[in-house]
Order: sequence, then structure tokens, then C-alpha cells
Amino acid sequence: MYQKQPKIGILGGGQLGKMLCLASMPWHLEVYILDKKIDYPAAPYCYEFVEGDFSDYDQVVAFGENMDIITIEIEGVNSAALHELKSMGKKVFPDPAFLDMVKDKALQNQFFNKHQLPTTRFSSFESKREFLASIESGDWNLPLVWKSRFEGYDGRGVCIVKTEEDLESIPESKCIVEELISIDKELALIISRNANGQKAIFGAVEMVFEKEANLLDSLLFPADIPQATRSEMRSIASQLVDSIGYRGILAIEFFLDKTGRLLINEMAPRPHNSGHHTIECCITNQYEQLMRTVLNLPPGDTSAIQNGIMFNLLGDKDYTGPAILEGLEEIFSTENVHLHWYGKKETRPYRKMGHVLVAGKNIHLIKQKASELKNKLKVVS
Ligand code: ADP
Repeated sequence: MYQKQPKIGILGGGQLGKMLCLASMPWHLEVYILDKKIDYPAAPYCYEFVEGDFSDYDQVVAFGENMDIITIEIEGVNSAALHELKSMGKKVFPDPAFLDMVKDKALQNQFFNKHQLPTTRFSSFESKREFLASIESGDWNLPLVWKSRFEGYDGRGVCIVKTEEDLESIPESKCIVEELISIDKELALIISRNANGQKAIFGAVEMVFEKEANLLDSLLFPADIPQATRSEMRSIASQLVDSIGYRGILAIEFFLDKTGRLLINEMAPRPHNSGHHTIECCITNQYEQLMRTVLNLPPGDTSAIQNGIMFNLLGDKDYTGPAILEGLEEIFSTENVHLHWYGKKETRPYRKMGHVLVAGKNIHLIKQKASELKNKLKVVS
């Protein structure tokens, strides 16, 4: 495709890394992955898998030195190393400074305020003591939402504080506090922007969460929202990426509150769970879109082909060990149902082992199919 193939390095070799590799195969791209173990999901599908720790400065620099382009499939990477690689002239997506901001919930919310993007009212605290003092002084009243500033992932590090007793279980850490939003729907969309400033936006999805594990339970595409909300989401996303000349792919999660207010919750500068459906439901999928973006190619068409419901195949809460999926027959005997099995060696309680995408034209029918299937599938050991 090119006279000299650019070497594309991805930090992270989980399911998102695997799907990035699969999307880059038709173009025969040279994709290298850095992650801990050769038995991780992306390993069989990349040009070369480098065993190493993406949170370690030296290992990331050593990996990236040999690349032309570096991108991520997870936020928990060593961003100081990415700054170094950028200063060496490597193309790094997202910009390491943007990644630093996203990793810190206080900086992220400040960013939204600075760019006049709608978000929840919040305060940031250096310690639990400072946070408790703000309640004592009446600056903040219960209920509220407490969030650890760093390393929040899949709902850990978030606590809805309703009572004085809830305060006791709050860990000691730098934190932010947000107003408790009366959520009607949790929504998300994915936008991409390349170095030439060309953008493309995927249609909005609606996310439903599994309360016990606080993991995404299912995702509905398209979201069941008014056209005005859809347009507002698109214009917020567009304004956001243009305001900073963003390059890469960005997932933006929103709350739609019960009064119809649209607020940004958070962002992820990488392919995202809320874009799995793009594989079967859109002309271009989010993984191909990232590859186009990092190569500064025009974005692909994000139009929808069909509707879809995605649900995760989570490890059963009672099993740890080699993973078996019960209910394969049901998946393959149901029309327009697509299995994505990530190939993780071991199942653990609530671990994301795969997902199923139920697609079709009639949204009621696919909802029914999805809920029937969900009851019949189980990840055991
Ligand atoms: P994480 O970074 O761990 O994914 P989030 O900030 O997305 O954490 O919060 C996890 C979940 O907690 C959200 O999906 C939502 O259900 C709930 N939540 C977070 N912030 C608020 C808020 N300000 N008001 C109400 N619920 C919230």
C-alpha cells in the first residue's frame, strides 16, 4: 500500500487491540503490539507481538523507538514515555498531553468548563479530609457522587454517596465530587479527526449498565432519543475536537438527565466498548476509522447499515479458570447474531470474555432476540 510500510505500534493487546489488528488486515498494515503476555487476545493477529509492560517508561520508549506511529487501546499506559516518543518525532495518537488530562478526572472536568462544554458541577480535593471538610462546611450536601481522580476504570473508583455511613467506605485518595445527576439515559458517540482536520461522527448509542458489577450490560444502536438530542451530541463532539485540534478517535459519554439536559460525563481517546456495534452496523467500523485517522487518510463513511444490540459475555461470578461458552448452538442458530469471542485464557467473575451483537431492521425484534439469548449464554469454567 505504501512504498515503505509505516510501522504502527499499539500499546495494549486486549480485545480492542485484537479488533484493531483485524481491521488493519485487509490493507496488510504492519501492526505491532506491546503487552504483557503472548497469549493475550491480539497476539495471533498482529505483525509482531512484543512482550512487555506498557506502564513502564523504558519499555514503552524502547518499543516506540522502532515505530513510526504509536497509538493506544487503553489509558493506563506510561504517558511520560509517549511525550518522549513525540519529542523524537514519532506520530503519537492521542496527543500525550490530552491523555494526561483524560487520566485525571479533575483536569478532565476543568477542560470541559474551559471550553464551555456542558458537564456536571464539580469540585476537586487533595485528600479525603479536605472532601469531608467541604461537607462539614456545607459547601457540598448529600447525596453526591465521589470519584477518585486517577485510575477510574469500569466503574471502580466511583461511589454514589447518599448517607453519612456511605462516607465511611470512601477510600483515602485525591478525588472529585460531582452533583448527583438524575439520569434518564447514558449515551455515547465516537468521533474521529485526522491531521487534516477531517472529521467523522458515528451515530449515538445508549448504554445500559449492570448494577452489581457496574459494567456495561448492553448497548442499543441507534439510541432511542429525539433528533434534537442527537444533533446536540454531534455539535458538542465536533466543537470539542475542533477546539483543540484533536487527532485520533475519541469516545464521549454523556448523561441525558430527566429534565432533558445533556451533560458530558467523560471521554476515552481510543476505540471504545460503546463502538463494538460499528463492526456489523456501520459502513466503516471504529477500528478501521482509527487506522485511517493515524495514517491521515480521509475518514470512512459512518452511516448505519442496520440496528443493533450489543451485550457483553461476562465471566460468571462463580467461576475462575479456563473459559467455556455455554449456548453456542443458540447463537449460531439465530439469524443475524454475531459472536465475538476474545480468546482470553481464563474466565474470572465479571471479566469481559466476549460480546454478542444482535442486528436487524426491527428494533423490537432484536431486543427480544437479545434478551432471550442473554439468558441462554453463560461463561463457565
Ligand atoms: P468510570 O470512569 O469508572 O467509568 P464514570 O464516571 O463513568 O466512571 O461513572 C460510572 C457510572 O456511575 C456512570 O456510568 C453512571 O451510571 C454513574 N455516575 C457517574 N457520575 C455520575 C453523576 N454525576 N451523577 C449520577 N450518576 C453518575
